[in-house]
Amino acid sequence: MIHASYIDSFNTGRLEKAAQELYDRLSGCTLCPHQCRVNRIQGEQGKCGTGVLPAVSSYNAHFGEEAPLVGRNGSGTIFFTHCNLACIFCQNYDISQIGRGQEMPPEELARIMLHLQKKGCHNINFVTPTHVNYAIVRALIMAVPRGLTIPLVYNSGGYDAVDILKILDGVYDIYMPDFKYMDPDSAGRLSGAADYPSRAAAAIQEMHRQVGDLALDRSGVAIRGLLVRHLVLPNNLAATDRVINFIAGLSRNTYINIMDQYRPEFRAYECLDLKRRITLDEYDAAVQHARIRGLTRIDGLRIK
Ligand code: SF4
Repeated sequence: MIHASYIDSFNTGRLEKAAQELYDRLSGCTLCPHQCRVNRIQGEQGKCGTGVLPAVSSYNAHFGEEAPLVGRNGSGTIFFTHCNLACIFCQNYDISQIGRGQEMPPEELARIMLHLQKKGCHNINFVTPTHVNYAIVRALIMAVPRGLTIPLVYNSGGYDAVDILKILDGVYDIYMPDFKYMDPDSAGRLSGAADYPSRAAAAIQEMHRQVGDLALDRSGVAIRGLLVRHLVLPNNLAATDRVINFIAGLSRNTYINIMDQYRPEFRAYECLDLKRRITLDEYDAAVQHARIRGLTRIDGLRIK
């Protein structure tokens, strides 16, 4: 029987405390490293273009995620609208940048979480949660007494603030951040966050401190821990080798998904270096580097 950490946090009052602390941050928003300091409670919007209530573009049992999240019945994915990053190559730009989705109060979010659990999903997978953490925790406080028990997945772009993650300690069981770039120039040009490399590194270190390496149950389904995603970009724009060095330095037992599906989308054609897919050689070099650095839990290649 899975015992998600947020149940203890609910019982001790830690969830309520976290919700209040996150709400307080909304009046001069510092929920992510952009630190826009806008008053979202009074309707002002920062870089993520979001007020107090989140918008949701879709939710379903998703079978396209990493095998330990999908299991037999799928990952209960909730896709939030908007994002705190502005990636010019985003493959979900209609959701993240244009804002397709429907505003949703915490009561409705709680209902969706319980619905996904009832469908047999192995987890609730919050996609792009960084800017809407307050509403998620508020919804969780409503869902726990109504029987929510499955693990929660924090599926972020990696541009997270360490002090906010500390407030969230005891909320999420599984962290699944991207580590997009180790090159500040690319991070600034392509995602509007030149400090992304240092922020993501610090955030992922904190995530690992909280939940450790990815742990699976007997059927191979994730119950707790860290899983890192990295999308290989053409012309090594992401500095993939240095991203991998960092991840291997964190723990050689880190579960990593090295992704090959980059394709030019949205405004990628504005950047000469981004106009093509990656080559097989570029992808092989990334995987080879991960192996040389001692990483063995590479999604799709070998699962421990
Ligand atoms: S969560 Fe949104 S408003 Fe708040 S600091 Fe980040 S980008 Fe700005």
